[in-house]
Amino acid sequence: MKTIEQVSLKGKRVLIRVDFNLPLDESLIITDDSRMVASLPTIKKVVSDGGMAIIMSHLGRPKGVFEKRFSLKNIVPRLSSLLDAPVCFSNDCVGKSVVDDVRKMKNGDILVLENLRFHNEEVGGDEVFAKRLASLGDIYVNDAFGVTHRPHASTAIVPRFFPRKKYFGFLLAKEIFSLKKALNHTKRPFTAIIGGAKISGKIDAITSLFNKVDNLIIGGGMAYTFAKALGGNIGKSLVENEKVLLAKNLINLAKKKNVVLLLPSDSLNARTLKGCVKTNTSNILSIKKDYMGLDIGKDSIAKFVTIIANSQTIIWNGPMGVFETEGFELGTKEIAKAICLATANGSFSLVGGGDSVAALKKFNLEKGVSYLSTGGGAMLEYLEGKKLPGIAALMD
Ligand code: AMP
Repeated sequence: MKTIEQVSLKGKRVLIRVDFNLPLDESLIITDDSRMVASLPTIKKVVSDGGMAIIMSHLGRPKGVFEKRFSLKNIVPRLSSLLDAPVCFSNDCVGKSVVDDVRKMKNGDILVLENLRFHNEEVGGDEVFAKRLASLGDIYVNDAFGVTHRPHASTAIVPRFFPRKKYFGFLLAKEIFSLKKALNHTKRPFTAIIGGAKISGKIDAITSLFNKVDNLIIGGGMAYTFAKALGGNIGKSLVENEKVLLAKNLINLAKKKNVVLLLPSDSLNARTLKGCVKTNTSNILSIKKDYMGLDIGKDSIAKFVTIIANSQTIIWNGPMGVFETEGFELGTKEIAKAICLATANGSFSLVGGGDSVAALKKFNLEKGVSYLSTGGGAMLEYLEGKKLPGIAALMD
């Protein structure tokens, strides 16, 4: 793995792919700048070496045309204040005006290009578009772990134009190091905690984790599809009926692989998803007809906490319940606390996925885990053992 640490960037135009896909409120104010903060070391290295940092990113999901709310101009003031340095902005990411802006740059300058996804060619992985982007830099750096699983122009195609001149940024290198530490240099017992709304999207990760972990804890909305597979009554809980058979197969596969698959034993239920409503706790297999399960119950929390306390390596992706709503946050909070406690006692913990990270932040626990990943989908695909296009493109 070639990182920018190994190279002097003096006088070089360094084209950096970052993930500045930050959440903004209605007034276009950034509500969470963690991904930006995470890429600062890479940008600072370019500047302190006396290179020119040309920063490219996407923001949101525009459909190939300019939209003010998705303009990267919105994030420039925050970047400038975090770096305590002036940051210039280019109104596009390719074309004559951008070439002119780059030409005017001096050593130590920082330029942010406009949202890559204002061009459909970015998501399409277009080679001509990639070549135009590549022409802006002498060196390519990828520091955008959150999009390395996407075969987009800026992640998978641009690096082709930089033989022997493409590098892992500090953040990307750290992400891979942490994932490898969990998967390949595992201290046991190894426990994975998978939650969130649905099984689809996480099936391959669960299946692949069966080859690695000792314990696999399932929580969140997806637990009810497993409960149905066990013949339970799950009332109005979230269920993926077409995945019930698959859930059954996963339960059997866990047995074959000698993995302890822990499903919640009890469930906190309500008739609606409003805070402050009447709730009841029941066995997860016998939820009343007009109720839905919105969090794991106290018995499940106690069992999961014990397993986590005895684990040396812990991976967590996806909340245990609807933690965003008051009254249904306890399961996620207690699991987060247990992971932090295990970490304080010497375990290695890796947390990824937008919602788990948001939950840790909500409970002010984000500093208590060993590593907070900036990628959810990318982390899951890495765990599945898939080749991530953005990483593969840096290797050849
Ligand atoms: P995901 O994007 O698949 O990780 O799902 C995260 C979402 O799952 C969060 O917004 C949670 O509110 C939601 N969630 C967690 N538990 C449940 C549940 N029991 N019923 C419905 N949604 C849930």
